[in-house]
Amino acid sequence: MRAYNFCAGPAALPEAVLARAQDELLNYQNKGLSVMEMSHRGDDYLAIAANAEQNLRKLMGIPSNYKVLFLQGGASLQFSAVPLNLLGTNQVGNYVDTGIWASKALKEAQQYGQVHVAASSKSSNYTHVPSVDSWQLSTNAAYLHYTPNETIGGLQLHGIPNLGNNVPLVADYSSCILSEPLDVSKFGLIYAGAQKNIGPAGLTLVIVRDDLLGRAQTITPSLLNYTTLAANDSMINTPPTYSWYLAGLVFEWLLAQGGLTSMAALNQQKAKLLYGYIDQSGFYSNPIALANRSIMNVPFTLPRAELEALFLQQSAQAGLLNLAGHRSVGGMRASLYNAVPLKAVEALVAFMRDFAKQHG
Ligand code: PMP
Repeated sequence: MRAYNFCAGPAALPEAVLARAQDELLNYQNKGLSVMEMSHRGDDYLAIAANAEQNLRKLMGIPSNYKVLFLQGGASLQFSAVPLNLLGTNQVGNYVDTGIWASKALKEAQQYGQVHVAASSKSSNYTHVPSVDSWQLSTNAAYLHYTPNETIGGLQLHGIPNLGNNVPLVADYSSCILSEPLDVSKFGLIYAGAQKNIGPAGLTLVIVRDDLLGRAQTITPSLLNYTTLAANDSMINTPPTYSWYLAGLVFEWLLAQGGLTSMAALNQQKAKLLYGYIDQSGFYSNPIALANRSIMNVPFTLPRAELEALFLQQSAQAGLLNLAGHRSVGGMRASLYNAVPLKAVEALVAFMRDFAKQHG
């Protein structure tokens, strides 16, 4: 029997997707070989790749003036690619510092140009997102980078910030892409590592508005240059073919579930159930400001740290996997991505209730 997986990433994949991949593993659509064994330049694979992109465009309503790139290197490599492509001399990369991921992004950018911290909640230990009104942009801002969902801290900026200017918004959507409908036209660039809501690790998505191409710093490696990558349909070199194929299966699955509106409703329901229980338990707690609680990643603590090992051991025995918080912060964390069903959250809450009864 498969367990319920609350891992922050690589994360749960829809069981139906895994079953289909298994079905197609040895002999893809009677072509006599596996997708893993296909040339990325052959018609069969090109059709798989194009179909995945089309379905993603349909799911997210990506306007035609945006390129979609299927890349490698993880979201972390985009921490470098963004400034290399978008930060010109005499320009400033603006960053909102909301936690571990945002601060990694801004630290990396410092290697490639001037960086300005437009807002930070570091002094309050990243328990809230600074309100958008308080974000102070520099002059000559090339872009404003923010992290809509901090996967480790478990905090999220709900809604798209309206800066009231033309500075392109750049967002690290790694842990909340595809969790709800999104107006892509409000962004200059969106990127996301795949291993949460998109598919297996090894693939990174970049969605970039056309007018931001052609600005890369001269030192930019071709494999990080959005213009070159787009001109070559993300195939300057061999792409992560199997991860791209699996992402395509996830997109088809999402469309069959009713798309992102349906996913959003389900994700709200799951998060409400877990936060609702935590808040009334008198045993567990979550430190994040109510308005900034993440729908995808729910960190929580137990009243006594010495209970943590027991909680993890017993939850794993109950078929509830990967509930440990990130190694840098400790505590517990349940990630409730699209592929985590409501039943999983119900089982988690039932387990937490029992555990609290025994140790409260
Ligand atoms: N940004 C965010 C918000 C993340 O959650 C992660 C991974 N957990 C990363 C960046 C880094 O992603 P990768 O491991 O794909 O480089």
